[in-house]
Amino acid sequence: MRPFKFTPAKTAIAAVSLLTNNTKAKYLAGGTNLIDLMKEDVERPNELIDLGEINLATIKPLVNGGISLGGLGKNTAAANSPLVRKNYPLLSKAILAGASAQIRNMATNSGNLLQRTRCSYFYDVAMPCNKREPGTGCAALQGINRMHAIFGWSDACVAVYPSDMAVALMALDAHIKVMQPGGTERAIPIQNFHRLPGNEPEKDNVLNHGELITAIELPANAFAGHSAYAKVRDRNSYAFALVSVAAGLVLDGSKIISAHLAMGGVAHKPWRLLQAEEFLKGKAATNNNFTLAAEAAMRTAKPLTHNKFKIELGKRTIISALEQALKGDSYTG
Ligand code: SF4
Repeated sequence: MRPFKFTPAKTAIAAVSLLTNNTKAKYLAGGTNLIDLMKEDVERPNELIDLGEINLATIKPLVNGGISLGGLGKNTAAANSPLVRKNYPLLSKAILAGASAQIRNMATNSGNLLQRTRCSYFYDVAMPCNKREPGTGCAALQGINRMHAIFGWSDACVAVYPSDMAVALMALDAHIKVMQPGGTERAIPIQNFHRLPGNEPEKDNVLNHGELITAIELPANAFAGHSAYAKVRDRNSYAFALVSVAAGLVLDGSKIISAHLAMGGVAHKPWRLLQAEEFLKGKAATNNNFTLAAEAAMRTAKPLTHNKFKIELGKRTIISALEQALKGDSYTG
């Protein structure tokens, strides 16, 4: 690992100011992804602004019926919060489907949103990678791309974004609250937070240098009783999704008032299944309609050489998640 300066920050505004003053600095929260990347020489900050002393971990109800999760709260605390388990079981189960208990105990909510791709070429500094080193090429495009994207990719990068938590946040219409240099705040809808790779795959999200995630806000949840997180992976723990689906159904008897669907493991960002949501609106909650919705969702998929299987797997996982949501189950994996 390269040498770096370690600078603890006492407050959020102090942290923002410290980072803004050094374009080569990074925030350090749980460190579960950043430190690995520094050890592999992928990330090379010359200074870490430590956020460990800042109190931004509170989980609290909002007056609009939603909740706020502190940006520096631990993933374990969010998943086990009675407020989250009761009103947002989809989020709780998605978090628990990710990583391991030890990592969830360290990882923060904001760090989860900012984790980087697990593309193996990104981690291998001997290989070309536009995300790690812009302009060098994409080794995965013609390489081993079984784990990679089927939606929204570009010739510059075919990586997928690895978070489970963010897939649930997408289905739940979260907003990401951010402190900007100077201390002002802005809120970014989750659907606009992560980017597609385009010609700038080095940029994972829309944050500007210095901005700090202070909270994740969720609106009141109308489908707490009918939601599910289905994750398919190569082994049953400590593995990233081949595909995953967060599903929520707002029902009037057996009629679907609205469906809320997002997919992980298929794109550079959590992938909202808008065609399927539109198809299901006002329809009966039947297996046949779930199958037609899944087909609509996967119709625009563009697989790579080694991941054509994700299309059929994606359909089956969407159907399974919708069936579980209908029954009131919340997780299998
Ligand atoms: Fe790098 Fe993206 Fe290509 Fe992987 S898919 S090698 S992260 S440019």
